[in-house]
Amino acid sequence: MEDYQKNKILDALILLRYMGFKDIDRKLVNTDPLIDLNKEVAKCRKCRLHQTRTNTVFGEGPKDANLVIIGEAPGGQEDKQGVPFVGAAGEELNRILTMAGVNRSEIFITNVVKCRPPGNRNPNNDEIDICNYYLRRQLEIINPKTLVILGNVALSLITGTIGGITGLRGKKMEYLSYPAIPTFHPAYVIRNPGSRKIIVEDIKKAFRLIN
Ligand code: SF4
Repeated sequence: MEDYQKNKILDALILLRYMGFKDIDRKLVNTDPLIDLNKEVAKCRKCRLHQTRTNTVFGEGPKDANLVIIGEAPGGQEDKQGVPFVGAAGEELNRILTMAGVNRSEIFITNVVKCRPPGNRNPNNDEIDICNYYLRRQLEIINPKTLVILGNVALSLITGTIGGITGLRGKKMEYLSYPAIPTFHPAYVIRNPGSRKIIVEDIKKAFRLIN
């Protein structure tokens, strides 16, 4: 079966699961939907960010992760390696996860946009909107129990406007019907080391929502 046909069938199955037909089994289609989606992202040229990327950064983690962490956008190291959170902010995230007692290999980590904005600028609204299709698909496939939203750009998925993380962090919110805890981006810790403990507590709070 062609990839295109598989994706169409898979889309229909995911839609049915989303509509409440929980017994629809992904194994009915002989494919891994997350791997197929990753291939789709790797070829994507839907927004201008494809022009300057080295690699797309799809995200990583188990396809049945209970927790999905959503960051902002790939940085320089992520763009080079095609892996999320491997630069300085990634090292900080690893430190935070360890302090929170969370094993990185058990969670799925991704970003609002899958290509690096040039010069590490914030992604523009139109880029966020276009790339949101892929984030939604990832969440539909993984179907996590809760989300952690890192920083103002990711928070804008919920609020529709960039800003407000200081007032909203740690509060239980909702994104696409998934419970979501916003918190500071690990890059913020590099400038404000005192915020590390706050992020640790917010991540622990998100984990308590799983159980
Ligand atoms: S940022 Fe998203 S929509 Fe834009 S080119 Fe990359 S994958 Fe495609």
